[in-house]
Amino acid sequence: MRFIYTIRSRGVTDARVLSAMEKIDRAAFVTGIFADRAYEDMPLPIACGQTISQPSVVALMTEALQVGPRDKVLEVGTGSGYQAAILSQLARRVYTVERHRPLARDAQKLFDTLGLTNVTAMVADGSYGLPDIAPFDRIIVTAAAEDPPGPLLAQLRKGGIMVVPVGQSDTVQTLIRVVRHDTGYDYEELRAVRFVPLIEGTSH
Ligand code: SAH
Repeated sequence: MRFIYTIRSRGVTDARVLSAMEKIDRAAFVTGIFADRAYEDMPLPIACGQTISQPSVVALMTEALQVGPRDKVLEVGTGSGYQAAILSQLARRVYTVERHRPLARDAQKLFDTLGLTNVTAMVADGSYGLPDIAPFDRIIVTAAAEDPPGPLLAQLRKGGIMVVPVGQSDTVQTLIRVVRHDTGYDYEELRAVRFVPLIEGTSH
C-alpha cells in the first residue's frame, strides 16, 4: 500500500501493525468523490457527516493499543469500519459501536464482503460501552471525549489498555493511553490529535 512508507516515517515500527495496514485496502472504506484519495495520508469525509481517520493516526493508535492475538477489543466510533478492520487482523474478537445506524450497517456489510468474521458492528451509544460483552482487553475510542468515559474505564480488564482522544471538540485534543492496574489507572499523554466529538445517544 502506498502510504506504508509515510506510516513508517511517522515512527510506527510494529511489524504486525504494518502488515495489518498492508492487508486492509483503505479504498474499500472510502466511497464517492473522495475514493481516489484513499491512499493519501489524510482524513476523508464519509457518510453521516463523519470522517475516516488519517492512516498514520490509525497506525499510531493501533500500535499504542498493543493488541495481542487473544484479545477481545472494543472500538467506539465505527465510522467507515476501517480501524475495526485493521484491529480484526490483530485481535481474537472485535466489537465496534456506532451511533449512526447507516454507518454501522455499511461497515458490517463490508466486513462480511471482506470475510472479516471476527468483527461485529453494533448501533449503540459507545460512551456506555457494551456491558453485556465486557470486560475488554483493549478499548479504542475514535471520537473525542472531554474525559475518558467512566463506563469504558470500568469495562477495561485489569492489565488492559485504552486509547482515547481527550479534549474539547473543536480545539486540539490529546491522545491518552490508559492502563488499568490492580489498584487503579495510569494515564499517559501520547500526542496531539483531532477527532470528531463523542456525542451522547444514538441518531434517528
Ligand atoms: N474509526 C472510524 C473513524 C471514526 S469517526 C474509521 O475508521 O473510519 C468517529 C465516529 O464516532 C463517527 O462515525 C461518529 O458517528 C461516532 N460516534 C460519535 N459519538 C459516538 C457515540 N457516543 N457512540 C458511538 N459512536 C459515536
